[in-house]
Amino acid sequence: MEKFTYHNPTKLLFGRGQLKLLPEEVQQYGKKVLIVYGGGSIKRNGIYDNVIAKLDEIDAEVFELSGVEPNPRITTVRKGVEICKNEGIEFVLAVGGGSTIDCTKAIATGAKTDADMWDIVTKKVQANDALPFGTVLTHAATGSEMNRGSVITNWETNEKHGWGSPYTSPAFSILDPAHTFSVPRDQTVYGIVDIMSHVLEHYFHQAPNTPIQDRFCESILKTVIETAPKLLDDMDNFEYRETMMLSGTLALNDMLNMGFRGDWATHNLEHAVSAVHDIPHGGGLAILFPNWMKHVLDNDNAARFKQLAVRVFDVDADGKSDLIAAEEGITKLRDFWDSIEAPSTLADYSIDESSIVEMADKTVIARAEYGNFKKLTKQDSVEIFTASL
Ligand code: NAP
Ligand code: FE
Repeated sequence: MEKFTYHNPTKLLFGRGQLKLLPEEVQQYGKKVLIVYGGGSIKRNGIYDNVIAKLDEIDAEVFELSGVEPNPRITTVRKGVEICKNEGIEFVLAVGGGSTIDCTKAIATGAKTDADMWDIVTKKVQANDALPFGTVLTHAATGSEMNRGSVITNWETNEKHGWGSPYTSPAFSILDPAHTFSVPRDQTVYGIVDIMSHVLEHYFHQAPNTPIQDRFCESILKTVIETAPKLLDDMDNFEYRETMMLSGTLALNDMLNMGFRGDWATHNLEHAVSAVHDIPHGGGLAILFPNWMKHVLDNDNAARFKQLAVRVFDVDADGKSDLIAAEEGITKLRDFWDSIEAPSTLADYSIDESSIVEMADKTVIARAEYGNFKKLTKQDSVEIFTASL
């Protein structure tokens, strides 16, 4: 591995009833609180009322931004920034899934700069500060609750970009698995795919000597694969929801990639699809990841794919070449995602060949080549999208 610094400042408050700690966490930062949430699930499942009751305990002055979209938009970020600046907001609280948290990271940053947030998202301008913010997570998927990443979409330019700064780690995140009971089946599946995809992005890297990181990744993948069908059969089961929630956080809090950078080509490809077609992130990943694997697999890198196949998917590699064992592993991943009814082709979202070039163009906006395990170009994007039709 390479040398590294690990610093993750987010305080994790995990488990049933941990929302009771919200007042003492928030009051360290001030009384003027902006709560940010999505399309209303928190009003239907009672989380909104519970959060407001907790903020009342410290006489917080509460402002609200609702309607954060799945694949949050820069226009919504700008609305939140305006509220923060006009009202002198001291603390921002995200109550929701990854979209709400990512939007909150951008709002908290925008509140402390005169620059337009799209210039920061596209890295034309650097972020130098942010308001403190915390999260009450309601969906196991992105890991945004314990990392500094944020993904924002611009519908004027059809672009979706990831960004982050040293100021975009949540001060605290409250993770009560019971808050995810009401996540519908399709969203639960997308979350499972996103969690596995984050681990897989880390798994495919080029650094030598990462046995601990490999085993961490493999244990999370195996646990998710074991838990997912049980959870989908029993959606109100606290222990299955708990396992999935912790898996989601550990999959993307920078612990699995100590000393190297993972690949991240598939996320880049997915962001390009979502930027043009606004599909759910996990749904796009379920289509693209096996096709990325088949596209990049070759004799030089087959050993890594074989390790995944043997250790995670129990492929019997005896007497088989690395390539054959690797291909069997990819098939088993596809079969597993099919078994939980994740989408498998772009046609599942009515996407046909007519937008392939437009999507491929989006994969190379930030840089002409992408992917750290194997460098890819626009032509590779075209081929992976074509294989995904
Ligand atoms: P999400 O977009 O936050 O939420 C998806 C849907 O689930 C929404 O309709 C939401 O409804 C609903 N939902 C959430 N919690 C619920 C609950 N407890 N009960 C019922 N419905 C609930 O999903 P996500 O997968 O967490 O976030 C996806 C976004 O994160 C994408 O933009 C993706 O690119 C990004 N992402 C970020 C990172 C990162 O590290 N920052 C990593 C990967 C992906 P409401 O809107 O009504 O609440
Ligand atoms: Fe993701």
